[in-house]
Amino acid sequence: MYYVRYKRKKNRRVKRVFFLLFALACIGLSFALAFGFGKGAIFKLISRPTAAGQALPLLTIQRQERLLLHLNVPIDEGDSWRVRDNKLELTLLHNEAIAAFPLEEQYLEQQISFRREEGKVILVIELDNLPPIFSLRSTAQGYTFQWLEAGLAGKRIAIDPGHGGHDPGAVGHHLDLYEKNVTLAIALELKAMLEQAGAEVFMTRTTDTLVDTTVKPDRHIRPDLWKRHDLVNEYSPDLFISVHNNSWSDKYARGIETYYNPNSLNSFPSKAAAKLIQNELVNELQRYNRGIKPKNDAVLRVDAPAVLAEILFISNKEEEAMLAAPNLANRAAAALFKGIAAFFLDPRGE
Ligand SMILES: [Zn+2]
Repeated sequence: MYYVRYKRKKNRRVKRVFFLLFALACIGLSFALAFGFGKGAIFKLISRPTAAGQALPLLTIQRQERLLLHLNVPIDEGDSWRVRDNKLELTLLHNEAIAAFPLEEQYLEQQISFRREEGKVILVIELDNLPPIFSLRSTAQGYTFQWLEAGLAGKRIAIDPGHGGHDPGAVGHHLDLYEKNVTLAIALELKAMLEQAGAEVFMTRTTDTLVDTTVKPDRHIRPDLWKRHDLVNEYSPDLFISVHNNSWSDKYARGIETYYNPNSLNSFPSKAAAKLIQNELVNELQRYNRGIKPKNDAVLRVDAPAVLAEILFISNKEEEAMLAAPNLANRAAAALFKGIAAFFLDPRGE
């Protein structure tokens, strides 16, 4: 079902040509290893036959400006990646993906190995000195895994100011404060800060409008959230953040909490980003720390590391007053900015 094709040339009828190519390949490989994964090198590591009978490279690794990994295996809902002990581990659960890899543990290349365990295959990439910042995106064939430079410059960040238009979100009863206005003000401040730092920013909305309420057959619950989800996926960010303010029937409910999706491909970086952002919000606003929490919201199912921050309770009199203060948007945005900046320095940060 599979065969290793790493740096092997097949079907060479003329020996001399074979040896010449072999020598060139050796020279190329030495250079490749000398430059880590090999600048500009493309490794087609394992192939599997397609329905059309052609060999589809199962895994190709490329390093030009960035390390790039293409995995042509079907995705399972539980697939995930994480960084541990300076190693990147990608866990694949789909039966077809598991079957595509040989049974024995193997080193495919100096820094890349895989092993099969009960019901999964784990691909391990040694990071050496690479900062552990990656983006993992699903493609038609499987995944694209990309190493990113540390820092905010050039990062693609999507911001979603919650609610808008005829959906005010939570409404405060003491100052008649609307959540939709607070979230937009925070998001606009955050956008400016991120752009100042060299990031590229996409906003699901920049004015007081609801994004979309067109109901799709399979997405009849909260169609506006699904539209935001689709817009963000279209943009394909390195990080997504949705900004909200909390509300509860208990008027004493208070504080700050940040959500992430534990069942996404990007659960590892999402949880890390949630921690960093939550800490910065609590530090800046000095309010009760409700911690980070799992949530499977439509917007958190985007194909990117994703968090949803619930910044203070609009239903709490004291916190509504805080949210209505003229400098709140700037303070909250500064905290979000710090958390995001920390994430792009090292997403393993506590
Ligand atoms: Zn909300």
